[in-house]
Formats: sequence, C-alpha cells, structure tokens
Amino acid sequence: PFEVLIVGGGPAGAASAIYAARKGIRTGVAAERFGGQVLDTMDIENFISVSRTEGPKLASALEAHVKDYDVEIMNLQKAAKLIPAKAEGGYHEVVLENGASLKGRTLILSTGARWRQMGVPGEDDYRNKGVAYCPHCDGPLFKGKRVAVIGGGNSGVEAAIDLAGIVAHVTLIEYDSQLRADAVLQRKLASLPNVRIITSGLTTKVDGNGERVTALSYKDRNHGTEHDVELEGIFVQIGLVPNTEWLKDAIALSPRGEIEIDARGETSQPGIFAAGDCTTVPYKQIVIAMGAGSTAALSAFDYLIRLPAS
Ligand code: FAD
Repeated sequence: PFEVLIVGGGPAGAASAIYAARKGIRTGVAAERFGGQVLDTMDIENFISVSRTEGPKLASALEAHVKDYDVEIMNLQKAAKLIPAKAEGGYHEVVLENGASLKGRTLILSTGARWRQMGVPGEDDYRNKGVAYCPHCDGPLFKGKRVAVIGGGNSGVEAAIDLAGIVAHVTLIEYDSQLRADAVLQRKLASLPNVRIITSGLTTKVDGNGERVTALSYKDRNHGTEHDVELEGIFVQIGLVPNTEWLKDAIALSPRGEIEIDARGETSQPGIFAAGDCTTVPYKQIVIAMGAGSTAALSAFDYLIRLPAS
C-alpha cells in the first residue's frame, strides 16, 4: 500500500508525485495514459519560463522528472471504482478495470478531462491543424485569420469575445435557436463588429487541403439548407467533460461532474484530495494543474503527519 496514491498522470498527477516523493513518503501513480492531454497538444506557448515547446516533449519531460524520484509509476491502468476508507486513517481502495486493486492512505485524484467533440467528418483529421479546443492556448496562432467557434454557451461566447480581439473574423455557430450564454456576455458579443452569429446551425463537416483546415459546412436547421464558411480555424466549445464517471457514488461532484475541492485540494472525503481539470478549479491549464497538484500533495502530507501514530 501507498501513503500517497495518485490516480492520473497528467501535469497535475506528475506535480503531485514529485511533491509527495520529496517528502520521503511511499508514492505511487496509476494512470491510463501517462502525460494526459499534453500528449494530444502540439504547440505550447504559455508554459511559463519555456517560450515554446510541444506536447509530447513536455510529456516525456514530466515522466523523466517524476522518475528522478522513488515513485512507482503504473501506466496503462484505468481506475473503475473508489472505495473510501471505513475509518479515518485507514486505506482507501482504488479498483482497477482489470480487477486488481490499489490502496492508499491518502489519494490524489487527477484524472483530468476531455473536450467534447463534434463527431463530424474531418474533425479528427484536422485536430491541431486548424481544429482547436482551447482559446487561451491556441487563439494567438490564428492572429489575423478567420475562425469559427462552435457552441453558444458561456464558454463558446467567451471564446468568441476573446478571439475577436486577436483574429480577423469570428463566426459563432449555435445548434439551438438562441445563445445560452449569460446576457451580459451576449450583449458584449453583439457589440463586436467582426463577429457573425448563426443560430439553429448544425455543423456537418470540417474541410481541408490535407494540411490545414480551409472551410466548415453547417446545416441551417430551420430551412434544411447546407452552407459553407471559408476559414482557417475552428474552436470547438461544446463542453469539457471531467473523467469522473468512476467516482459518482464515492465523493461529492458538482452538477457538471467536477470533483468539489476546497482551497487545499481536499474533497468531501477526509484523506482524499484532487487536482487539475477533473476538479471545480476555475480555468483548465497546464500551469494551473501543476500548481493544484502541488497543493494537493502538500495537503496530503499535512493530513498524514496529523494522523495518530499507529
Ligand atoms: P490530464 O492532462 O487530462 O491528465 C489526466 C490523467 O488521468 C491522464 O494520465 C489520464 O490517462 C488519466 N486518467 C483519466 N481517467 C483515468 C482513470 N479512470 N484511471 C486512471 N487514469 C485516468 N493547456 C495549457 O496550459 N497550454 C496549452 O497550450 C494547452 N493546449 C491544449 C491543447 C489541447 C488539444 C488540449 C486537449 C488541451 C490543452 N491544454 C493546454 C490544457 C491542458 O492540457 C490541461 O489543462 C492539462 O493537461 C490538465 O492536466 P491534468 O493533469 O488535470 O489532466
């Protein structure tokens, strides 16, 4: 059994592992895919102190840094169920999909999230080649170009406002007959000269020239007509889904399925902490996940040293 068992090996899990191991306590990381979302990223330009790097490069640096310490890395392990300790100071159990189980006196849950995809032809082919999911990350790559934002909820409308200040033109496409974002955001969006809003629009296809995105097709749901929009970028903003399905009955989740944490990273269960994109932390970014992972590990250590000697 581990003193600190981390579930998830993205930036949050890697930071937790290093901070925990540096306290000299027995630390393990179980991850479905060590590196997490970083593996799916191309250019990273906002990882502070590194002007520019690439996802796979940062992911291997994360793993190498963790391996500097005495941390047991269990890659390709998917957690399926959490059984919290019966009594304070007891072991929490994480049941893996393959039937095995791991135990930790404290847990740090850092299973991240995934962007909901449109599921249309061309989306996968042009991922990172014009199809993007994170305006904070990739917005500046489209400076002076034409982009679309898919989704008219708060994140879609915020993204459109953000991008309108950087790119030449933004087309926002919402499936519903009206935008769902807060009124104040909608007013702001409507005031911008380089934004076109399309409601009742269903995206049907991403087009490209083999190298980059060149256009997007959508269907007007009121008239059944098909339309093409020429552009260089598409930001998909139809939801960020936390990887927390396996935690439903064990700890408190927000209505969106995010693990509820306090400022110290503690969940509703004593001795169980969480960090990164799977939590209620505002803003999902690499540096933020790393900070949160460090916080959770220090809180886990603080919890352990206060347990009565056994
Ligand atoms: P993740 O990176 O999602 O890692 C989660 C970990 O948990 C993985 O190891 C995963 O395999 C594992 N896991 C999930 N479920 C289970 C389970 N049931 N059992 C075991 N393990 C599990 N951020 C930036 O700051 N800058 C950028 O430029 C940037 N660009 C991005 C581009 C793309 C295309 C994407 C998708 C994201 C981008 N982000 C960027 C966001 C950034 O990648 C995330 O905020 C960050 O990776 C979150 O870290 P995390 O550790 O919380 O989760």
